[in-house]
Amino acid sequence: MLKNRLWLWFVVAVIPLANAEYTSAQQSSDAALPYSPSLDVSSMDKSIDPCVDLYHYSCGGWQKKNPIPPDQTSWSVYGKLYQDNLIFLRGMLEQAAQPADQRDAVTQKIGDFYAACMDEGGVEKRGLSAIQPELDSLAQIRSAKEITLVVAHLQLVHSGRSMLFAAGSTQDPDDSEHVIADVDQGGLSMPDRDYYTKDDAKSKETRQRYVQHIQKVFELIGDTPATAGKNAEIVMRLETALAKASLTRVERRDPHKLVHKMKIAELAQVAPNFDWAAYYREMQYPEFAILNVDVPDFIKELNTLLSSESIDSWKTYLRFHIADSLSPYLASPFVEENFQFYRKYLRGAKEMQPRWKRCVQYVDFDLSEALGQVYVAKVFSPELKQSTVAMVQRIEDAMGQRIRALDWMSPETKQQALTKLAGIRNKIGYPDKWRDYSAVKIARDDFAGNVERTHEFENRRDINKIGKPVDHGEWDISAPTVDAYYNDQMNDINFPAGVLQPPLYDPKMDDAPNYGDTGGTIGHELTHGFDDEGSQFDAKGNLKDWWTKEDREKFDARTKCVDDQYSSYVSVEDVHVNGKLTLGENVADLGGEILAFMAWKDAAKEKNLQPVDGLTPEQRFFVGFAQWDCANERPEDMRVRAMTDPHSPARYRINGVVVNMPEFTQAFNCKPGQPMVKPAADVCRVW
Ligand SMILES: [Zn+2]
Repeated sequence: MLKNRLWLWFVVAVIPLANAEYTSAQQSSDAALPYSPSLDVSSMDKSIDPCVDLYHYSCGGWQKKNPIPPDQTSWSVYGKLYQDNLIFLRGMLEQAAQPADQRDAVTQKIGDFYAACMDEGGVEKRGLSAIQPELDSLAQIRSAKEITLVVAHLQLVHSGRSMLFAAGSTQDPDDSEHVIADVDQGGLSMPDRDYYTKDDAKSKETRQRYVQHIQKVFELIGDTPATAGKNAEIVMRLETALAKASLTRVERRDPHKLVHKMKIAELAQVAPNFDWAAYYREMQYPEFAILNVDVPDFIKELNTLLSSESIDSWKTYLRFHIADSLSPYLASPFVEENFQFYRKYLRGAKEMQPRWKRCVQYVDFDLSEALGQVYVAKVFSPELKQSTVAMVQRIEDAMGQRIRALDWMSPETKQQALTKLAGIRNKIGYPDKWRDYSAVKIARDDFAGNVERTHEFENRRDINKIGKPVDHGEWDISAPTVDAYYNDQMNDINFPAGVLQPPLYDPKMDDAPNYGDTGGTIGHELTHGFDDEGSQFDAKGNLKDWWTKEDREKFDARTKCVDDQYSSYVSVEDVHVNGKLTLGENVADLGGEILAFMAWKDAAKEKNLQPVDGLTPEQRFFVGFAQWDCANERPEDMRVRAMTDPHSPARYRINGVVVNMPEFTQAFNCKPGQPMVKPAADVCRVW
């Protein structure tokens, strides 16, 4: 999908459950969220020199106090806050789940969804019958063309997993006010196409382990071990072929590589072995003339495979994907196998999350705006909205000043940049209009069915946007999510209520740590509009070049400085940070903090700021900044993230920024030659 969301923290919505993580602290929850301040001196380790390592100076105490809980793949300030949110939401859901006559429609939906998920006995009893009709539906396929109808149904009811390819709607890259149909690469289960193609020993081991996982899933749906083993080889062969035809994550960061608009008739010429007309009819797409095919070579390869591979092989592929994709919602052997491979082997979690925690997250993902309404009413006051909106305004003003003052950019390009800045929409807290789920049937005794019906509802909602003007009020993440994003086709920044809570935004604390932390986050999202990727979209969100040639060359030289700096960092063991994959995020981290510092100085100029706890106001700004990302990380998870996460590891998101800020050197009186001080000539600065 061309749809491009630039997350602050991690790709929560892309790999649900694989990453947004939380501890097993048990407590009842009806009260308020627990409070922690936006600058916590006890989280620091003052035995470390900040000029040597600001990150460990600011976070060493936090790291000691916060070992990674066994059911988590990593642990961080963000993860911990989301955990607090889950405990809080659990209390709300347990109340909502009480079967009472006077429950309103929203309460009934979220309450019964949660109750059905928590009914472990019922889920066990249903066993395989929850997916048997889908498995049986494969029997009717006798030709490649007949795959069409089954795939259409499976794509509708499965989310987070694409069968054969991904499809839906997207904003027209040339006219962002309109929504068109879209077809993209997909069809894999491991987190990235590189898992299937890389030749190092670890990748080979992972593939072996994955084949064992596939075999286990086949055994769970009734195959003998021998048959399951053969079937696993078939699935692996098909997925490997699809992976090889897929673009890499770095290639996909160039939006021009993903634009190929065509008519259905042209798509049918690219891939005649798939019955596209029947597919769109079955999916009930609105009439449309043009669609975008992100990766035509992928679709061509799929077409070849549809005839070179037997129909039975494709049925085998689909059987696995049905069972694997729904495993988290089935009886315990499926849930256990899913955990063993995806969370334990791939990401290093030691234990499964308790059931309540998984269930709260499913409600948050699948009925996000029903649950969000109840959450927002409890944690996001009008005063909080007002103060955070004011902070956004200050950061935007700083960005305007910064653009005007750039010494390397021509007046023409500056004018365009300012127009783009003025066009950014700010969405703070929650949507103005909540999604209406009244069409979704939620049953107390059908957990897997509820999941499929909510997925179908979302997929149909997405498809039905085609041909209509774009809805600028729409959000892509739930209000309790502890994350934020910039969307370059919408040209908007989105800060859900969950990310505007202490310790990230702390109304009880003064501006210094708040600007260092949330101010930097706001600046980060704004800067995404002007990073190597976002800068290719104009104020309206169209993929349109607004740069002079000379300015673009100077910009590229500046981002190369950032690429080189981060490429030199080691992520884990023998794995380096991928400077090209993380470039946009690193540019946004640096630009965001520079803006936050400017905006804070402006906000503070009338105030007579004094040291607190032995730290000057400037030092508190930088410690507040560093403490947004205090984290403990598992090596397994670091490996997955080095391949899939466009963000750098936590310590580099802090230290990699301040080495480029003379404001930091000055705040801590650092000396030339110290690790946090770059020679002036080597300092990277883009915005
Ligand atoms: Zn970001």
